[in-house]
Amino acid sequence: MNCTRILPILLIAAGAALAQTAPQADSGKPAPPPAIKSFDLTAIDKTADPCTDFYQFACGNWVKNNPIPGDQVRWARSFSLLRERNRYLLWQELDAAAASPKSPLQKQFGNYFAACMDTSTVEKKGLSPIQPAFKAIDGLKNAKQLPALMSKLENGGTPDGFFGFGVGQDDKDSTKQIAQLYQGGLSLPDRDYYIVDNKHFGDIRAQYAEHLKKMFALAGDAPEAAAKEAADVIRIETAMAKASTSRTDLREPENRYHIYTLVDFEKLMPAFDWNTYFHAVGIGSFDSLNVASPNFFKALNDLVQSEPVNAWKSYLRWHALHAQASNLPKAFFDENFAFFGKTLQGQKEPVARWKQCSSMTDNALGEAVGQDWVKQNFPPAAKASMDKLVAALEKSLGDDIKTLPWMTDPTEKAAEEKLAMIRNKIGYPEKWRHYSSVKVKRGDLIGNIHRSTVYERNYNFAKLGQPVDEKEWGMTPPTVNAYYDPSFNDINFPAGILQPPFFDFTIDPAVNFGGIGVVIGHEMTHGFDDEGSKYDGKGNLREWQTAEDRKAFTERTDCVAKEYGGFEAAPAQGDTAAQLLNGKLTLGENTADNGGLRIAYLALLDTLAAQGKSIDEKIDGFTAKQRYFIGFAQVWCQNQTDQSARQAALTDPHSPGRWRVNGSVQNFDEFGKAFGCSKGQPMYPASSCRVW
Ligand SMILES: [Zn+2]
Repeated sequence: MNCTRILPILLIAAGAALAQTAPQADSGKPAPPPAIKSFDLTAIDKTADPCTDFYQFACGNWVKNNPIPGDQVRWARSFSLLRERNRYLLWQELDAAAASPKSPLQKQFGNYFAACMDTSTVEKKGLSPIQPAFKAIDGLKNAKQLPALMSKLENGGTPDGFFGFGVGQDDKDSTKQIAQLYQGGLSLPDRDYYIVDNKHFGDIRAQYAEHLKKMFALAGDAPEAAAKEAADVIRIETAMAKASTSRTDLREPENRYHIYTLVDFEKLMPAFDWNTYFHAVGIGSFDSLNVASPNFFKALNDLVQSEPVNAWKSYLRWHALHAQASNLPKAFFDENFAFFGKTLQGQKEPVARWKQCSSMTDNALGEAVGQDWVKQNFPPAAKASMDKLVAALEKSLGDDIKTLPWMTDPTEKAAEEKLAMIRNKIGYPEKWRHYSSVKVKRGDLIGNIHRSTVYERNYNFAKLGQPVDEKEWGMTPPTVNAYYDPSFNDINFPAGILQPPFFDFTIDPAVNFGGIGVVIGHEMTHGFDDEGSKYDGKGNLREWQTAEDRKAFTERTDCVAKEYGGFEAAPAQGDTAAQLLNGKLTLGENTADNGGLRIAYLALLDTLAAQGKSIDEKIDGFTAKQRYFIGFAQVWCQNQTDQSARQAALTDPHSPGRWRVNGSVQNFDEFGKAFGCSKGQPMYPASSCRVW
């Protein structure tokens, strides 16, 4: 099940939940992380020419001196360090709440955290928390019983893995919340892992098969049975992968919008009794729904009929086991880490238990935990100051739209209308969600996870047919990220990112505009990238550009896609060739980066002019213009394992740090001018791409 969010919301960066955690409680208490500099002179590689490779110039020394910690797979100067810091602050709150809660809310999240930290009970319980799921799966007699079995598993909090189902806004009428079905069912990070025929993926598939066998054996299955089960899982998942629409194709809103009446959908997949399923999961009644990938469900129909019942048992048993692998005893944890952490991502050691338990509590009860967190870490003055910054960025995007060379008047007017309708959410929700109905018990980690999963699912199901709550948030307050939601047409900045080095009261405006200013500009531009621009100001999928302007727009986005498609995402490894970036998968993010850099720069010029300051004034030997670009670049200084870079190239719509920096500055002439580059140098090319 994946039902909390329907549309892919457009983030500033990939999520943090990449790393796998450690099974044992740590000796000693975590130490507070150091303060993060918003502008770091020691990060700069002065031997590099900013006009040739600006990323190397702004980040080179940082990259050289900051190897990836053993528990990380991607280590970024701003995002990772701030995530570590926020998580430490969260841990302090959770640890205190677990020891001596001062309110019913603190008692609830304190207990959730304590249950997660209690590894001796985890060991003692063994597989017993997932035995009820195993038992239900074992009782499957024929494929006709699959809908009843799957709903039973889901009602107990065990994800079944087949597909995603939930409630979300209708793409063409954002005031309506409708039932939606998506493709799913895979355990590896992308369909390519199952179907691309080369040595790299071949090796991973062979190791995946070994991992499956080991996990089944740990669960008590005899070696021959485990081998047979592993083969079943791989065969079924591979068939699902083949029937899946690619990530790049799913970025097209039209490719994921297929309204079916219930009657017609049942004809598409008659082998599965949907009526029974929908009824048993307890969602309200509906007579039409969106089926994001009809071909997937067509293939699933054949698969349900052709695979023997024992193969489905293997598949479901695997998914029940895999879903909780890192919350089971150490033997399961270690085997899971060996494959999903080490082999797939190059992670050397697991994340400390306190870190993972802090993140898990935030995931499960974020708006409970967040109430204390924002009191401690987000003063009202920060919100007022953010309001001003957002207003400055809105104005500069409006000015930018007026000067676009390719846009005709009717489209310009429509773009301005859409911009005026973007709503801003800053810091944290106006009203908090209640979790009082989620039963949380000490010594019952997996039980707590199950109950919270079911609670989230039912919370989502309850939206069916209801008015949209425009004040709802899709991120918890301590999160270091931001997003634009095309159906809401809103931009969202959690308190977690409104901290140094992104947002710093003590630093000059140039650095703040290069940090949080570009983040705001990035999210606003998402409303106008190749995907976001298909939605109007009300959040409806509707063309508002003239045909002529759409053509001009697409020529420009094609330029960006081609440019980034030539950048290397991961180096060659042994027999495996270097991996290039997917220019189409990353197009929306790259467009948003380019637009964000331009409009935050315009907003900085306005702000300095209003303060009577010059853009050429120097601090630390750099002009305000240069500090703006360096501040921007230093957000993206990073190191990443080759394995993780290769995975991200297939799955992450964001480009790696180097190209977020160099790709953006080489498309913006003000950069070349700021650093006195000569036209024709790599970062100041004779011709470049520009959308917004
Ligand atoms: Zn983004």
